[in-house]
Amino acid sequence: RLGGDEFLIVFEDIPSDARFSFEIDNLLDAISKPITHDATRLSVTVSMGVATFLPRVLDFTAAMRQADIALYAAKQAGRNRVTFFSEAMGARFEARDRIEIELKQAIEKEQFFLHFQPRVNMKSGQVVSVEALVRWQHPTRGLVMPNEFISICEETGMIEELGQMVLEKGCWQAMAWHRSGNDIGLSINLSPRQFDDDRLLKSLSKFAQHRDFPYGKIELEITENVLIGDHEQIELKLEAIARMGYSVSIDDFGTGYSNLSYISRFSLNCLKVDQSFIAQLPKSGPIIDLILTLGKQIGATIVAEGVETQHQLDWLYDHGCDQVQGYFLSPPVHIDRLGAVIENLNAMRSKASAPSIATGT
Ligand code: C2E
Ligand code: MG
Ligand code: MG
Repeated sequence: RLGGDEFLIVFEDIPSDARFSFEIDNLLDAISKPITHDATRLSVTVSMGVATFLPRVLDFTAAMRQADIALYAAKQAGRNRVTFFSEAMGARFEARDRIEIELKQAIEKEQFFLHFQPRVNMKSGQVVSVEALVRWQHPTRGLVMPNEFISICEETGMIEELGQMVLEKGCWQAMAWHRSGNDIGLSINLSPRQFDDDRLLKSLSKFAQHRDFPYGKIELEITENVLIGDHEQIELKLEAIARMGYSVSIDDFGTGYSNLSYISRFSLNCLKVDQSFIAQLPKSGPIIDLILTLGKQIGATIVAEGVETQHQLDWLYDHGCDQVQGYFLSPPVHIDRLGAVIENLNAMRSKASAPSIATGT
């Protein structure tokens, strides 16, 4: 027994692969047999990582590490499965390990900054807010995108520090805009861990008390899986956030939690339709229509994410979508370019009639 629920099993002198598979199948059979305890039938599932080795070639510690990497891969792939170690898997793991080490340093050295992507109101054609998206300025690799590091930060807990950094940068930026008379909104992504962290409310309240705090202009984006769990606690937290003057949106809406009961329970300002639905238009039309109706019912703004074509834009306009965001309007940009991008988008709309927000190009 290596840990609470972790066990190591060593098979010696296995003559063939077939024999090895046989042994593993036996093991799985034994584990999957239900147990009756106090008239309750219990069953457990198991994730298994397997490494095979010749003791003359690889020492035991190294073999254990390989098995551990395979176990990690089994868990990553969704648990309840057997995964064999491979050289490719080892290489992937090493790369991930390296990024993890580099990320620690990157957080210390503050190698992160924000890009901003405009969000446009369909009716007025004006940019109403921007979303802050974190970027890593890697010393040798250049700009690294969040899909390469957010999940590692989540797993290791580094997201709490990174998220805090993003929150601070975002709030300071929103306050600077407010001070200069610019009333544009700003959305900040919150990770599930960050939402659970008690320090979040403290930070938010610190900014809310600042004299430059743009009341109602900072939006926090959470994903549906944040809302799984103790609904009473979540409700209290969301209410506290709203009282302070922040709004809340559900990011990647439609891809996470299938239980929609939370929609009526929590007060949500905005639903951001996941970009996968927009990419599948017009096939996904009925789903988007449904979300639009839902949004109207609960009084939430509906934002379509990942709008890439005029067709998608037209469809969304015709079906009454409130706001849009996507490469068709603008990719996320550096702060130095943001002013010009917004001016351009706003000017285009004053020239053209709806829905041709971006046809002037
Ligand atoms: P998200 O919050 O759903 O952000 C939208 C992502 O879609 C962004 O990717 C954006 O660049 C991309 N995108 C925008 N328009 C289009 C389009 O028209 N087509 C396509 N294909 N993609 C588009 P990005 O910046 O790479 O961020 C990826 C994800 O990483 C974000 O998804 C968000 O979940 C996460 N993320 C980014 N910054 C932060 C952060 O500061 N904190 C946390 N917790 N997560 C963050
Ligand atoms: Mg987002
Ligand atoms: Mg999204």
